[in-house]
Amino acid sequence: SSAPADLESRITSGMRDVPDFPKEGVVFKDITPLLADPESLRAVVAGIAGRYARGSVDAVLGLEARGFILGAPIALELGAGFVPVRKAGKLPRETHRASYDLEYGSETIEMHADAVGPGSRVLIVDDVLATGGTARAAVELVDKAGGTVVGFSVLVELGFLQGRRKLTDVEPHALAVL
Ligand code: IMP
Repeated sequence: SSAPADLESRITSGMRDVPDFPKEGVVFKDITPLLADPESLRAVVAGIAGRYARGSVDAVLGLEARGFILGAPIALELGAGFVPVRKAGKLPRETHRASYDLEYGSETIEMHADAVGPGSRVLIVDDVLATGGTARAAVELVDKAGGTVVGFSVLVELGFLQGRRKLTDVEPHALAVL
């Protein structure tokens, strides 16, 4: 069946924990087995796209890199376009930029300045919501472009990191919460 609880257990059982990646003390959630399984891939794309009415979203913003994989098929389902948000220095034209702090240093992400127009309705998609820094910066990019964030969806939210507290105007949605 396609009940949300079934989808959540499919996701939690399909992911792998990778201890000490990318550095010691971090348990990385590896979602690649879900992407590789045809039924899971279809279910997670449908699970996110199904929350939004077709035609209610103008652009799906995918966050580099796994947000690209999920975002493009979700955009197709919704009849929306796809816009990549990339790490600094990857996009060739004029960009909006937003930065956030990491444990050591900071990270900057970018979006083409002309990719989202004023009033454009934007759904942001990523694989994992962790500390929320990436999510918050992505919302800032849409704000800078004059767009409206109508949703923020991820496969998995690491609830214990309380990343959703960093999002003030957007209520993030996760297919599974750990
Ligand atoms: P945040 O900015 O701390 O919320 O981290 C979210 C970003 O880092 C997303 O783009 C994720 O793809 C990535 N990320 C953080 N932790 C994990 C993880 O355990 N597995 C996969 N991706 C992760």
